[in-house]
Amino acid sequence: MSKAQETVLEIDLGALTHNFNYLKSKLQPKTKFLAVVKAFAYGSDAIAIAKHLQKLNVDYLAVAYTKEGVALRDAGITIPILVLHPQSINFETLIDRCLEPSLYSKHVLNEFIKVAEVKSQTDYPVHIKFNTGLNRLGFWKNDVDSIVSKLKDTDAVIAKSIFSHLAASEDVNELEFTTTQIETFKTISKVFESKVDYKPWLHLCNTSGVINYTEAHFDMVRCGIGLYGFGNSVKEDENLKPIASLKSVISQIHNIEKNETVGYNRAYKAKGFEKTATIPIGHADGVGRIYGNGKGFVIINGKKAPIIGNVCMDMIMVNISDIDCREGDEVIIFNSAYKASNLAESANTISYEILTAISQRVKRSFLSY
Ligand SMILES: *Cc1c(COP(=O)(O)O)cnc(C)c1O
Repeated sequence: MSKAQETVLEIDLGALTHNFNYLKSKLQPKTKFLAVVKAFAYGSDAIAIAKHLQKLNVDYLAVAYTKEGVALRDAGITIPILVLHPQSINFETLIDRCLEPSLYSKHVLNEFIKVAEVKSQTDYPVHIKFNTGLNRLGFWKNDVDSIVSKLKDTDAVIAKSIFSHLAASEDVNELEFTTTQIETFKTISKVFESKVDYKPWLHLCNTSGVINYTEAHFDMVRCGIGLYGFGNSVKEDENLKPIASLKSVISQIHNIEKNETVGYNRAYKAKGFEKTATIPIGHADGVGRIYGNGKGFVIINGKKAPIIGNVCMDMIMVNISDIDCREGDEVIIFNSAYKASNLAESANTISYEILTAISQRVKRSFLSY
């Protein structure tokens, strides 16, 4: 591991391989693996991650929006890409770039068929999304008939898969609710299959579903957070390796007297003689203002330094009164030892949010391995 001399997100592709293999070890050999690389691969680098996963023979990728799929195609990714939440304005582009839409409502189904017909497609692969309890996106159980008759009326598209999404797969207290979701999904797929003369793939599980509901893996699973090293539980976190380390450096050290204040709005007041360090990372880089005023912290020479005062756009100030350190020393915001999930907890949020918040301004670097 190199010592940071500026703010950098260091990505360990070896850890990605480890997480991929670990998650795959939970699956039956025939179960396909879809890797979710939306939101810049959870704040890391979608292109580098997708290229690596393509080399590892992952079966599918998924992004949220069409634009994210286009960026992957531009970078030379050739494997199938599911677009989880496309808007009809992008359907032409989606077809031009061989991206496969999730169709989640009558409106988008009708619109997509129209565009596919105009573009003279036959059997263009689409994925029908059902709502089984998350109540976010998806057709309802009683929409099956109208979907099937729509699909039978056209040669332009074919339902390659039908899928749904679990609302609380990481929460063992919601076992009963999740079981009901699984059963609803089974019922929907049975009805669907009985009305068409082919077998669409079925998929339901995200990372925590893969871990907690092995009986519900069906034909494919969709993993995001697990690939990036977080398992939504203390036990699973031990089996996974965070792929990203966010590091920075001490720009300047100040010695301040009692009652002097630090930062905007004079939000922090020194209780005595104190030492502070200024670090070149701020809310524009993804360390939100929520981490300010003592909630969040960074690690300097193995010790916790709390963020004092308000987080600025480009900087934070931390209290280093008890830490032996110098200007130019490395600062860890999170890494495989000081996990992003812990820092997230300090602000009452989750690993997903802190990872995806890391902005495009932060340099990405890759560990050679
Ligand atoms: C983001 C997403 C996933 C991945 O979930 P993780 O908890 O990160 O594994 C899977 N399926 C859908 C529909 C998603 O939106």
